Amino acid sequence: MGKKLAVSWITFACCEDSSILFVELLNQHFFEWKDKLDFRYCRMLKSQGNDFEGTDVAFVEGAIATKEDEAMLKMVREKSKKVVAIGSCACTGLPSAQRNAFDEPTKREIMMIIERFGHLEKVHPIKDIVKVDYMVPGCPMDEKIFLEVLGKCLSEFGVQ
Ligand code: SF4
Repeated sequence: MGKKLAVSWITFACCEDSSILFVELLNQHFFEWKDKLDFRYCRMLKSQGNDFEGTDVAFVEGAIATKEDEAMLKMVREKSKKVVAIGSCACTGLPSAQRNAFDEPTKREIMMIIERFGHLEKVHPIKDIVKVDYMVPGCPMDEKIFLEVLGKCLSEFGVQ
């Protein structure tokens, strides 16, 4: 069997619609991808053995809203050769980052939650925190662009 692309999929603050879309794509492309993709960390597909170690490409969905998520994203970046931002929340922060635009009274109202649960002052797109190699915009992600990016990654890593 030939080389496989080691991929991970992680979701931060968002509604996970791009994850659902990805599962739908797996339904369509299963026989094509089963010999090409090795899922290292993908909790929607497996409950055990999830590990970012050796990841070629990490697909990151959602915006970064907490200190814990910020640390996790940095760890993902360190362990992955390429990082792909998936969907508008990961690419631009919105719509998950709506609280950034709250007026002052509303910001004061939510301050207790922000402090108590370790949230960041603002919600960030992932490019604010780590280097991003590719972006797949859309809400949820644009399926066509996702397939193009995946195709580029397969070819860059010599997976046929
Ligand atoms: S980009 Fe849209 S579909 Fe994707 S997680 Fe954010 S809100 Fe949901």
